[in-house]
Amino acid sequence: MSESMRAMRLHASGRPLELERVARLAPGPGEVEVCVLACGVCRTDLHIIDGELTEPRLPLIPGHEIVGEVTALGAGVQAPAPGTRVGVPWLGWTCGECKPCRAGRENLCERAEFTGYTRDGGYAEYCVADARYCFPLEVEDAQAAAPLLCAGLIGYRTWRLAGGEANRRLGIYGFGAAAHILAQLAVARGQAVYAFTRPGDTQAQAFARRLGAVWAGGSDEASPERLDAALLFAPVGELIPTALAAVRPGGAVVSGGIHMSDIPSFPYRLLWEERSLSSVANLTRRDGEEFLALAPEVPIRTETHAYPLEQANQALDDLREGRLSGAAVMIP
Ligand SMILES: [Zn+2]
Ligand SMILES: [Zn+2]
Repeated sequence: MSESMRAMRLHASGRPLELERVARLAPGPGEVEVCVLACGVCRTDLHIIDGELTEPRLPLIPGHEIVGEVTALGAGVQAPAPGTRVGVPWLGWTCGECKPCRAGRENLCERAEFTGYTRDGGYAEYCVADARYCFPLEVEDAQAAAPLLCAGLIGYRTWRLAGGEANRRLGIYGFGAAAHILAQLAVARGQAVYAFTRPGDTQAQAFARRLGAVWAGGSDEASPERLDAALLFAPVGELIPTALAAVRPGGAVVSGGIHMSDIPSFPYRLLWEERSLSSVANLTRRDGEEFLALAPEVPIRTETHAYPLEQANQALDDLREGRLSGAAVMIP
């Protein structure tokens, strides 16, 4: 397998990705090679490329919402078999031995490796992944499924940590890829969704209403109801006190992002009355199995915009500038 492949690579943070021909690597022991059919563009990719996440391997092929087909197996791999459709998520490898791993919290593994950050990802024609971290996917439409792999999984973990089914009134701050998936799950579970967008973003507000939100407005507007919980998907620290002020006593605010601007100081009374504030880091394989089984039941329909691989920089710019409703997906 001495062929080459097309890939978009990052050579230094703050610089655009470059379209290159790179070696197509054979899968090592325990690994599979996956022919990428679609790869979603996640906000985390922006944080990596813009240098807010500081430890990427360089040069790097970003992308961790990969849907593809297994094309080759490394030594010792029995499954997934060649031809199987799989999803490759952000969690690329864990040690299985550290304290968090042994406690069932592999999302916090001390030596974890991440697809499209510390391992090469899916902005390419092929990628290599550890077979144990790939999810078998029974989906026809790879483009529609790609955003489920991170926006969906991380969104689901955020929803679950905020109390899952138990909440009746659920606030969602930042209505992008994760929110548009989660809103569908919440609505299907009978929850009332309150969507908070960038002030003045009437397009995102209309999008939220179309997906079943009972209310949509700017994050500068007061919530019309006391919320049981709030999920934060916008990387804006100011939203933490805003969301705390909107939840009831005992309510939860959970931030789903990997990076956020600084949180301004706020009066203790916003947190008092047993409100909780927490964050979500990464995912466990169990999150993935649970959510990917749920998604077709709901059923979750993603709204995606396809970009050819060589337009990755355009897709990233569109995400950065808030020009997308739904999710951008790269098609190699
Ligand atoms: Zn570990
Ligand atoms: Zn992501």
